[in-house]
Amino acid sequence: MKIAIYPGTFDPVTNGHLDILKRASLLFDKVIVAIATDNEKESLFSIEERRAFMEAVVKDIPNVAVEHFSGLLMHYVQKTQAHAIIRGLRAVSDFEYEFQLALMNKKLARDVETIFLMTSSEYAFLSSTIIKQVVSLNGNIHGLVPEIVEEALKEKFNWERE
Ligand code: ADP
Repeated sequence: MKIAIYPGTFDPVTNGHLDILKRASLLFDKVIVAIATDNEKESLFSIEERRAFMEAVVKDIPNVAVEHFSGLLMHYVQKTQAHAIIRGLRAVSDFEYEFQLALMNKKLARDVETIFLMTSSEYAFLSSTIIKQVVSLNGNIHGLVPEIVEEALKEKFNWERE
């Protein structure tokens, strides 16, 4: 059974993440979304909220499971006996960091490959950060995040639907 881990902060999950996830689920027997509980980014949503959103949006994809992890990703990957890590690439600017990360992860666990999936063009501009910025300024993010996330963001920023 080929298992892949799709790690990230997912603060919150966007339709760009979901697109990568759906495509990855067609390539592997099982994909585990691994939500990072501790990293240098301060998150808007708690781990429980981020996990609940993710669980709601993947419930119809049978070979996708949602977990969270703390500490070193590669320790988690080895524990789950996964074969690959999935990462999404949006722009050249993602590349340098992802390249460094992939090489370091390869150094830490020789038998685990990082697989990069290119963003779909309609999501190339999309990140959790830009979504939060737009909502905080009352912008419309309809169609860019799952509905459950859209509602939670509006609530978080106390924005009433017009
Ligand atoms: P991290 O904090 O580890 O970068 P994110 O939650 O921001 O985690 O993203 C998780 C993964 O999803 C990363 O590989 C990121 O490049 C990818 N990703 C995020 N948004 C998109 C998008 N719009 N299209 C493709 N990949 C994306």
